[in-house]
Amino acid sequence: MIDKVLIANRGEIALRILRACRTLGIGTVAVHSTADRDLKHVRLADESVCIGGASSAESYLNIPAIIAAAELTDAVAIHPGYGFLSENADFAERVEQSGFRFIGPRAETIRLMGDKVSAIDAMKAAGVPCVPGSGGPLGEDDATNLSLAREIGYPVIIKAAAGGGGRGMRVVHSEATLLHAISVTRAEAANAFGSDIVYMEKYLDNPRHVEIQVMADETGNAIHLGERDCSMQRRHQKVIEESPAPGITEAERSAIGERCAEACRRIGYRGAGTFEFLYQDGEFYFIEMNTRIQVEHPVTEMVTGRDLVAEQIRVAGGEPLGFAQDDIQIHGHAIECRINAEDPERFMPSPGPINLYHPPGGPGVRVDSHVYSGYVVPPHYDSMIGKIITWGETRETAMARMRTALSELVVEGIQTNTALHQDLLMDRGFEEGGTNIHYLEKRLGMS
Ligand code: ADP
Repeated sequence: MIDKVLIANRGEIALRILRACRTLGIGTVAVHSTADRDLKHVRLADESVCIGGASSAESYLNIPAIIAAAELTDAVAIHPGYGFLSENADFAERVEQSGFRFIGPRAETIRLMGDKVSAIDAMKAAGVPCVPGSGGPLGEDDATNLSLAREIGYPVIIKAAAGGGGRGMRVVHSEATLLHAISVTRAEAANAFGSDIVYMEKYLDNPRHVEIQVMADETGNAIHLGERDCSMQRRHQKVIEESPAPGITEAERSAIGERCAEACRRIGYRGAGTFEFLYQDGEFYFIEMNTRIQVEHPVTEMVTGRDLVAEQIRVAGGEPLGFAQDDIQIHGHAIECRINAEDPERFMPSPGPINLYHPPGGPGVRVDSHVYSGYVVPPHYDSMIGKIITWGETRETAMARMRTALSELVVEGIQTNTALHQDLLMDRGFEEGGTNIHYLEKRLGMS
């Protein structure tokens, strides 16, 4: 039984994990950097340990310090949240070798999915549809690579097997630049990710980002909890997410969802996970799997009525899933706006003291945020300061509630992207639903 959880993260997700633990009657240990003593979850946790300096490398990425804190406090399990060490297979391994439960899949699963080439192989074997492509690493032979691209058809995209965070990718529009693009991407990948393995995919010109949430336990149960549309992106960073995805039919949802659940059963998946797809012309194309809880998980929670973080913890403790596929019904519609501390024009981070903070409220409004009046946003980490999630019986109601919620939000002292969200909530294309992944950048005049 897990009766004490160490939260190896910060900000809103650390608070979210703390709330799940409290609801389950589980003790909590907060670990934090020297810059984060005043975080809300640090104040609320049963115990807290300062694990290092302000830089992430010294604290939230400091594996020995986190393990030592777990030993010191007799924690039973470690929740990695998202970002930081959440998809680091070596960390998951060290956690389990040190006698703690890692709240996530097994280290070998993280490793398998962390390499995009092996992930695509595993997905193909499970019958998950993938983007047409090289089906494996590109070799050194120029003639072979040229004919491969001709077969796939231009444009193609060259991607690093170990890439992440939208880096290590290059689109190639014609044969003239293919070989150069392969060698540049290889060199960049070696530099950034320590591996020069690259592969080739068809570049889809008009896709939406639609992802499937899954949940699995150690006894072989695996289910899906519908999809999220996260097409509203800037520089591969999601800005608004929603569930269900506009226009996706129940038949499409259960067909692709069942493929993902089956893939989980085959690879022995444990915990929460997300299969990311590009969706174009009615077809799903797998691009990668995230082996952790995601920022946008609340929209799924709002339409399914399930607590995904609590379920992660239960499953990590060896308990079977608390629900079967038939128990999951999608009810209504939910939208999430990520609120960032940033300059609304140039999108530069805007850290500093929040003099006044008033979150919105009312029916169907959820705010996941760690900030409060007097809180100082440190400059060392991600600029997201919270998420507003609204739910309604219909998409229109969820949108109307979001407009109201955004108009109520007060964050004084720093700059935020609230005005951008307000614009988007009035945008014709977004109102209609189903915009593609380039829509926001085009609208901002970036491409
Ligand atoms: P990362 O791990 O860096 O997030 P992904 O494989 O998830 O990399 O791709 C990130 C983004 O790049 C996608 O959301 C999409 O916008 C774009 N992308 C990736 N592969 C393709 C493709 N085959 N066609 C079109 N766009 C793509």
